[in-house]
Amino acid sequence: MILCLVEHDRGTPDEASLQALAFARRYADGGPVHALAVGLEPAGLDEHGVSTLHVAEHDAFGAYAPAAVSQAVVALLERLAPTAVVAAGTERGNEVLAHVAARTGLPLAANCIAATPGEPVSVTRVRWGGSLLEDALVHGPVALLTVQPHAVPAEPAPVRAPAVERFTPELSEQDLAVRVSEHVDAVEGGISLAEAKVVVSGGRGVGGEAGFGPLEELAALLGGAVGCSRAVTSAGWRPHADQVGQTGTKVAPELYIACGISGATQHVAGLKGAKTLLAINSDPEAPIFGHADYAVVGDLHEIVPAIVEELRR
Ligand code: FAD
Repeated sequence: MILCLVEHDRGTPDEASLQALAFARRYADGGPVHALAVGLEPAGLDEHGVSTLHVAEHDAFGAYAPAAVSQAVVALLERLAPTAVVAAGTERGNEVLAHVAARTGLPLAANCIAATPGEPVSVTRVRWGGSLLEDALVHGPVALLTVQPHAVPAEPAPVRAPAVERFTPELSEQDLAVRVSEHVDAVEGGISLAEAKVVVSGGRGVGGEAGFGPLEELAALLGGAVGCSRAVTSAGWRPHADQVGQTGTKVAPELYIACGISGATQHVAGLKGAKTLLAINSDPEAPIFGHADYAVVGDLHEIVPAIVEELRR
């Protein structure tokens, strides 16, 4: 039996967790896949091959607390004895399973794109911010695996409603020492960067906060979201939630438009899933052009408004 942690936003499962469930089903190869959700019962798991959904309930689960969630995973591990625990390779998925590994001494392989059961389990995982794929062997009675976002499609399985079992894990004060104390919603009604079909992204070359106006306009015309590089968030021109890259959001749009972004490895790590990359940069030697499907060498302050004007026309 495989246990999969499902992250959700107020009851809506995260796309990365649905991908983790598809990965878990493949790994289980027809065997049962149980899911664990914390706080409340997420909707829409009927199409994702979950035989039993465990809902961990506790007053403390109103806010994210990584050690507390890991305690819920450990409680199920002890009771259900799964052969593997799978979670999405998101910041939270990796954080929770790292806590589980520390508490149980079990081995953790993060950001896997494939895994074959066995003793040991063999995995292929993403390393170095996406620039290396590593084959590794995981030795241990239970493998803890997180799944690289966008590596496995969240293919639906035949519809069946999972059995739902609720439980209350025992939590200590220490489990709540680190917890989210405030949640600030990003721009109301905006398209989520992680799920946008088009991302218009700006780097240091945009020149400042005000320089993002034309990029916002282009994104709105294409029904997309605005992203940026770390140079931009470090300068305070955009919030961290907009950052794409190794230490930002991983995106997988149909089209990624990189404006004034040099193409550092840590930035490119976040857009490996993009189907088409259009780069606009004044430096013909910019590394971003090495990854681009379409390259425009020139000043973004002229080119972006020209694209906007043409789209409006
Ligand atoms: P620059 O490298 O300064 O590039 C600016 C580009 O704009 C240049 O290529 C220039 O030719 C072009 N330009 C200038 N003016 C114009 C113009 N008028 N028109 C067109 N082009 C123009 N970075 C991330 O983005 N995301 C991450 O998650 C991330 N994580 C990191 C993690 C670690 C541990 C470390 C060490 C670094 C990380 N970085 C990350 C930082 C990364 O290494 C780069 O420093 C950063 O991506 C550079 O941002 P940039 O391309 O906007 O700026």
